[in-house]
Amino acid sequence: MNQHGGGIAQPTSLHPITPPSHPIATWRATGRRYYNLSHFYRQKFGGAVWKIPLDAGFGCPNADGTLSRFGCTFCNVASFSPARRHRSEHEDVVAQFLRGVAKLRQQRKAERFIAYFQAGTNTYAEPNELEALLHGVLEVPGTVGLAVGTRPDCLPSDILDVLEKISRKIWLSVEIGLQSSNNATLRRINRGHDFTVFRDAVLRCHARKLAVCVHLMLGLPGETPDDNRRTLRDIADLPISGAKFHNTYVSKDTTLARLYQAGLYQPLTRETYVETLIDCLELLSPDCVVERLTAETTDEFLVAPDWCRDKNATLHFLEKRLAERDTWQGRKFALPVADSGSGCVS
Ligand code: SF4
Repeated sequence: MNQHGGGIAQPTSLHPITPPSHPIATWRATGRRYYNLSHFYRQKFGGAVWKIPLDAGFGCPNADGTLSRFGCTFCNVASFSPARRHRSEHEDVVAQFLRGVAKLRQQRKAERFIAYFQAGTNTYAEPNELEALLHGVLEVPGTVGLAVGTRPDCLPSDILDVLEKISRKIWLSVEIGLQSSNNATLRRINRGHDFTVFRDAVLRCHARKLAVCVHLMLGLPGETPDDNRRTLRDIADLPISGAKFHNTYVSKDTTLARLYQAGLYQPLTRETYVETLIDCLELLSPDCVVERLTAETTDEFLVAPDWCRDKNATLHFLEKRLAERDTWQGRKFALPVADSGSGCVS
């Protein structure tokens, strides 16, 4: 799984960009302690890539009454989606993407872009509507890929047909929210699906040669670091090529905010988050790209913890603790015994 696609060769772009002229060393050989996204982008696309968040106006079956009217206990979509915060009713996704591309070209001299369908559940649509929507951004010059964020229970066969078709034209990653493999936690946070549904979705994506990135949260209500380590062990045998880690933060206007105000929930400290995150990185496959290490939100939405406001301080602390513990991603990775071929990788 060296190329963020479970070993799957996907096309990289409709608008070819010159590939690297020399082989890029593996991430360990460059002295890194985890397989970071910029390293993957250089390997895959030959240089820096900017991921532009988009809001196509999707809802969510866990909040519109189909599964539930309450959503996940931590969820306030606008708090983690810049695209939804800044969305204009009159601006479609192509216009949003073009605006983002133009700004990055001017400010950063950027050349390569990924259209990130972020806000809401981005496969919660009729297949023909989804296909038209995804197709709309493909023609924008410099587009090297698509990322589509969704729930594991919103990937029926006709939607996978669409994603598979698009993935034959351009690199495509399906970002699936899991958060935890513990079914008691998933019930507690009102996810509306269990771990089996996630496992099944990943395997069905893999059968279509689709790259999968998993979203995980540390510090969910009722969870301990043991639960987080268990989640990493539970996904070890799945063909997942990317992972995003988020610290659980309390956002305004959520069930979690009410629990916090009632004294029934405390977010992790930065120290506990980073130590647990390192434990999780040790258990993650060394071939899995680490796409995110902390959650991001704004003062407008954040209730707690305060340390969440300073992402750079968290990342610096992480690097410091990785060095002090002299450890790295995949150091304790092993496939479950029944499926183990080569055993421990590093
Ligand atoms: S599945 Fe996503 S969009 Fe839906 S309620 Fe949960 S976090 Fe919010």
